[in-house]
Parts: sequence; C-alpha cells; structure tokens
Amino acid sequence: MHPWKTVKMAIVRRKMLSSRIPADCQNPLEEWMAIKARETFKKSKELRQAIGKDDLDHVTREDFEQYQLHQFRKQMRYVEENSHFYRNRFREAGVSADDIKTIADLTKVPMTTPEDMAKEPLHFLAVSQTKTERSFSTTGTSGVRKRVFYTRNDLIAKIDIIASALRDVGMVKGDVLHIMFPTVGAWDPSLMMAGACMIAGFDSSSSASIDIQEQMDVIKANNSTYIIGLPSFIYRVTVLAGHSHDLRSLGIKKIICAAEPLSESMRRTLEEEWGCKVLDVWGMTEFGLACAVECDQQDGLHTDEANLLFEVIDPKTGEHMPDGQRGELVVTSLTSEGTPIIRYRTRDYVAHISPPCGCGSHFNKKIMKPAGRMDMMTKVGLGQKVYPLLFDEALLSFPEVISYQLLIDKEGFQDKLTFLVESRDHSENLRDSICKAVEAILEVKMGMEEELIMAPIVEFRDVQTDYVAKGKVILDRRPLFDE
Ligand SMILES: [Zn+2]
Repeated sequence: MHPWKTVKMAIVRRKMLSSRIPADCQNPLEEWMAIKARETFKKSKELRQAIGKDDLDHVTREDFEQYQLHQFRKQMRYVEENSHFYRNRFREAGVSADDIKTIADLTKVPMTTPEDMAKEPLHFLAVSQTKTERSFSTTGTSGVRKRVFYTRNDLIAKIDIIASALRDVGMVKGDVLHIMFPTVGAWDPSLMMAGACMIAGFDSSSSASIDIQEQMDVIKANNSTYIIGLPSFIYRVTVLAGHSHDLRSLGIKKIICAAEPLSESMRRTLEEEWGCKVLDVWGMTEFGLACAVECDQQDGLHTDEANLLFEVIDPKTGEHMPDGQRGELVVTSLTSEGTPIIRYRTRDYVAHISPPCGCGSHFNKKIMKPAGRMDMMTKVGLGQKVYPLLFDEALLSFPEVISYQLLIDKEGFQDKLTFLVESRDHSENLRDSICKAVEAILEVKMGMEEELIMAPIVEFRDVQTDYVAKGKVILDRRPLFDE
C-alpha cells in the first residue's frame, strides 16, 4: 500500500503551512520559515517576551534566532521528559533548557555522535512505537547503523518543507517533477518525493531505468519539467546517452541533485547537456533528507532553519566558527517528535554564509556546499587532506569517464594512488590526460614534490550497463593509517 494513503489528505493539507505561501512570493522557502515563526509567536508568551515586539510582520535575523532558541529549549524539555538517552545525558552534564538564552549558550549542551545513535536507537525514541508511522535505517557514509522514527506530524513537517523547497526552486502549478533515483537501498526516496508532490499539488513521474530512451519516453509522456535525483545516476544516464539524444529538446527547466555530493564538473556537464540550471540539495536521513537547497544564485544552500538548527564548530575545540569559515556541521532537530536529535555531529565540512542572499532572501543563513564528509576524507603525502569531490573535479571533467574508484596503498614511504576508471575510452591519450589532471591537484602535487606520493596509476574498466550503488570512492588500504 502507498504509505501516504494512511495520511488523511485533507487534514494534512490544512496542517501544511506551505499552502499559505502567496503564489507570487519571491522566496517561498524563507516565507514558509517566517510563517512558522509567526505561528509560534502567536501561541507562545515566552517567544513574544524574548522578541519584545507587538507583531512579527517583518522577521529579522535576530527575531528568527529567538524563534530558534525558543524551539531549542522546547525540544530540550521534550527530550528530557521523553528520551531515555537525553535525560541521562543532560543530567550528567548538569544542563537544562533554561540555561540556553543565546546562540553561544548552545555549546553548553553535549553533542550527539552517530555512534551514540547506533548503540541504543530505542533510547532516542521519544514516543511509544505504536505512534510511529515510519522508520528509516541508515548506515550513511560512516558505516554506523542508525535507526530513525517518524510520527505522522514529523512526516507532515517533512512534506511541508519539501513542498516549500520545490516552490523555491521555481516549480509552479502545472509543472511535473521527474524523479530519477535508482531502486537501491533500504528506503525508497522516489516514494517519498512522489508523496510530497501529490500532497503539494504537483504531478510527478518516475523512472529508475538506466536506458536514456526509456527516461526520455517517460519525461515526454508526462510533460515533466523538473528533474530530481541522484547525481551519479543522472550523470551516468546523461553520459551514456552521448550525443545521440537531444536532451535539450525535452525542455527541462531545472535539475535538482540530492542525496550525494555534486561536483562542479558534474554540474557543468549536466547543465551543458540538458540546457538548464542544476541545483544541489543537502540532507541526511537522520533529519528527514531535505535539509538545505540551493537557489538560482548557486552560491550556497538555503537551510531549513524552521525545523533544524545549524551550527558550525571547530571539531577539536567545539567552539563556534565565525560565518565564512569552514568547520564541522552540527544539527539539532527543533520540531521532531519521533527521534529528536540534539546537536548531532554530521562529520560534514561546511561554513555558514550570512544573509542576505542575491535571490532576495534576507534572514536565512546559508551553508556553503559541503566539501565532503569528514569520514570520507583521508590524508596523503605531507598530511594533505583529500576527499572524493577533489578527484571528481579532475576525473569527471573528461566526458568519457563515467565513474572511478581510488585505491590508496603504501609502498615503502610513498603513497600509491591507483584510479580504477570506468570509461568508454581506454586510450593512452586519455590515461595521460587523467594522470596530468590528478598531478595538478595541489594536494597531490605537493606530495609528489616531496617524493611522498608516487606518480598516479590509471587502470581502465569497461562501462557497466547497470547502475551499481557506489562503494567507497576512496578506499584507503594503507596499514596502521593514523586518522
Ligand atoms: Zn538565495
């Protein structure tokens, strides 16, 4: 049975604040956050006192931070009462909701790690299991297994944000979203997206086929105008189509890439082939997938600050980093009922970008496009940090290359980098060009100059006709590697 059928549509629509966003709104996502803050302002004396205004017609950054702190305290009280894990954690730390008056105070609250969640997932559950509608298991990139539960209200909140985000990227009534996820993994994002579209009043189409003709047929048959999907999957379909198909003729207005890092070279290829803008989305299963989305400025991602609180910290000291400086992203769910998570260390390496944004958004803080998960990073040569996006730029700028895996071994004192490259062309020319591109990466170049990294090796692999879920892009096989 379709999971969304269990949710009564009329009730859901009434609860969705996204339906109150005016049709001519410039920044639907920010407007939705403002509506959410105003709703809370109306109901809560605590928040009215904290903001000290008679109305909240115009929401400033300061007002919005008061809304976030209010929600943070509320969520803290809620988990203290309902979650076994946090009750103990807060008691041990001697901290309570009333201690949190400013953003700086947040650092008084202990952080939660993926390992905490893997150990006792049920200790995070804040409602009885009969009240949960869905649960997701995720291993993420770290390989630590976590389980997250959603109540009906959690699901509605998620649909609400997805509906606002789809409007924010430009979708209007009559647009059709084509969903391109391969059918892999424990959860099916296609189902979730289709459900969100249905409730938001958009139509959707979906295909998990690697065959470009089939994808094009589905897009044409449904008059699809937007695409959302896994970038490595869309990329594979696009590159395999080669120049034998005129993708531009389909009239796709925008492509939204979700659930995987999007490299700039991948973005350039997709924009060129489809003739439209390609936008990035950041999300985590722990927080319901859609957490931040790019606007047309393509300069950082607007964050869902109504449901989530984002902090960027120095991973060593735990102190807040100033806006513009990269650190580890720490996220708190502000409204979650099922599995509320307080100050979760995402291992993502990002920076905050202060408002305003060129798109007209005036109080929402953005995050820079993540440079990569810290647990996907490794070090080579003189301890230079490397991560998949760095090599994506070098390898995926060649249209013949479809995917690759990097193996790192040690030979004597030197690091040996072997690239297994899935490509349509196995020529010496391409091999030389790839090696040159890799050697030009600053981190590799420095290591080679110090003779700590050997000249890179390229081994070609034939093109797979099926989509195979990506394993680790960088496989570090060196013994006793010091993290
Ligand atoms: Zn913007």
